[in-house]
Amino acid sequence: MSLLRPDDVIDHITQITPEFLEVRGLRGLLLDLDNTLVPYGSYDEVHDMMRWASELRQAGIRLYLLSNATGRRAAFWLDKLGFAGVGMAGKPSPRAYRRAVAELQLPPTEVGMVGDQLFTDVLGGNLCGLHTVLVRPLISNALPHTRAARTLERAVLRRYGHDWNP
Ligand SMILES: [Mg+2]
Repeated sequence: MSLLRPDDVIDHITQITPEFLEVRGLRGLLLDLDNTLVPYGSYDEVHDMMRWASELRQAGIRLYLLSNATGRRAAFWLDKLGFAGVGMAGKPSPRAYRRAVAELQLPPTEVGMVGDQLFTDVLGGNLCGLHTVLVRPLISNALPHTRAARTLERAVLRRYGHDWNP
């Protein structure tokens, strides 16, 4: 069960500041796209997110997009974000996480995985020994398999003392 335990649970990515990262010894972040950086499926620019990412980068934090979205969708956002990353990452498979960590040229212990899903983002991050941050999804997703996953997430997180109602 501990592979499903996030190290931190937060409401929004902007709670991740250079100080937050310094306290945890983190110098790089792997970032989920859908419902973490932007609302699920959205192509609209999100100014507070863009500003947040650029402030972290100015503070020397290395960012990498690790998304299961299509290559085309990831490429659209990578062009806007201005840092590296991949789509179709196959999370929670550790392969793409390991490659991403290598790209950041940091030890896994200094890299965080930030995402809104326990069974992909957090599980894969924990399998690779990363610091995992679960963030509340930006919008609720009506897809049946996502709703089922959310119910399970809620049950797991309750065991860890988190009242999780995304
Ligand atoms: Mg997501």
